[in-house]
Amino acid sequence: MNSTCTIHARLRQALCALLLVATLGAPHVGAAASDFGRFARNDVLLVVAPHPDDETLCCAGAIQRARAAGARVAIVWITSGDGFELDAHLVEHRFFIGTQGLLELARIRMQEAARAAQLLAVAPAEQFFLGYPDGGVAELLGSHHDLPYRSPHTGAVAVPYSQAYLPGAAYTGTNLERDLRAVIERMQPTWVLAPTPLDAHEDHRATGELVIRTMESLGRAARVRYWIVHGGIGWPWPRGLHPEDALLPPRRARELPWQDFALTSAERDAKASAIGVYETQLLLTSSFMLSFVKRNEIYSSAPLLPALVQHDIVVKTAAAEDLTASLPHAVK
Ligand SMILES: [Zn+2]
Repeated sequence: MNSTCTIHARLRQALCALLLVATLGAPHVGAAASDFGRFARNDVLLVVAPHPDDETLCCAGAIQRARAAGARVAIVWITSGDGFELDAHLVEHRFFIGTQGLLELARIRMQEAARAAQLLAVAPAEQFFLGYPDGGVAELLGSHHDLPYRSPHTGAVAVPYSQAYLPGAAYTGTNLERDLRAVIERMQPTWVLAPTPLDAHEDHRATGELVIRTMESLGRAARVRYWIVHGGIGWPWPRGLHPEDALLPPRRARELPWQDFALTSAERDAKASAIGVYETQLLLTSSFMLSFVKRNEIYSSAPLLPALVQHDIVVKTAAAEDLTASLPHAVK
């Protein structure tokens, strides 16, 4: 929790500047929000996912729409999901998993992510696994910005995956920021999709804040749209596969300026197929994952509301609702 507070202290100024754009420029907000989704060949969509599967749960519809328009789509995964110990037990069919079991789980999860991305027509060259530690993103941006972090799950102090963007990079916030920035500068996205800092999962909140800070420093924060995957217990509702139902904003983020992004029947089918690739996650969370296949996705043009920033409610909200964030990533 300390790291979360630290991050918010550091980001207060950037968030306020961004929110000034998103709120005081009200006539432009609507226009900008409605522009999102009208992809063209010269667009480049970058999806920033804290873990393998987030990109599909949040954004499979937008990814397909962009590719159908001829736009480039890239996905960058901040972590490889190597902290989900309960899942590793099931996948490995062993009681004692240890660090090697979690490293192996992460390799499988990266393979699943690559297959899901392929189903959504994202080119292999535009899939970037950064390999930072599951459950440690807020720590990297806080107390381990410069001091290497050791994953309590894998024991790693540096990116341990040969298929990662920069294998061997020490687990520091400085390196994470550098790698994400390098991907952004390489892809030159016209749109970036990132988690809102109102998401209930700490890795998601920290990732959202990292994207805000990075895009703000590049002067392109207005090109970010925000999604949510962990909206609190019971969200999305109904659970399971209900592709004709609407995805409504969760209570914890319902005041954000959400834009409905309607999916075609074919897009919903492909989203369900891409989710189906995540066999390791479906072992425990199929009902949760399939509940994202609905008639629409939702994107917000603002990460937070001005009142939330002014009163630091983000930190308080995080503290109050960490009941869900304390659980393994997908068990929500
Ligand atoms: Zn996640």
